[in-house]
Amino acid sequence: MLLAQVNERLSTYNLCIDNDQLPPCARLKQLAERQYIIHHQVAAADSSQVRAYLGLNSSAQYGYKEYLSRVNNAQLRRSLACFRCVNHKLQIELGRQVKPVKVPMQQRYCKLCNLGAVEDEDHFLLICPAYQSVRERFKGSLPLTAITPLAELLSCQQQGILARFLVQCQIVRFELLHQT
Ligand SMILES: [Zn+2]
Repeated sequence: MLLAQVNERLSTYNLCIDNDQLPPCARLKQLAERQYIIHHQVAAADSSQVRAYLGLNSSAQYGYKEYLSRVNNAQLRRSLACFRCVNHKLQIELGRQVKPVKVPMQQRYCKLCNLGAVEDEDHFLLICPAYQSVRERFKGSLPLTAITPLAELLSCQQQGILARFLVQCQIVRFELLHQT
């Protein structure tokens, strides 16, 4: 593809390659990175999973996420990153993976309470009574009320504490679901 054609396509996203004096390998690297950004944006528009990801992340911009440098413990950082990437076991995600027919989104109910609610990230972290004891322990450090917007919780400054809270909720969930 000619540079002019690439730029025409990239111009939609204000990503034109403006320096054709770079060495060929540097231009190729720049081009690959910018094409990936286009892929990222197109996928975000088309995929319900990516839309969920964007809902769990304050910025839809492709690039390094600041929260990663605020959690020192590698295990906690991994847990938080997985959750933000919708790599979790909540019914909202498990129902999407059922084959051959997905569980309708409105029927992906929480199995740990009788609220008849969809078990999504908001219900899991802020609403479900199954985790109220965990919330009580963390409410001095995190914004944890039933009316706290999920985005506010996930964008709080105390990302390390948030990660610990998340892991505690996941442990409780696992134990409750696997009680004999
Ligand atoms: Zn529940």
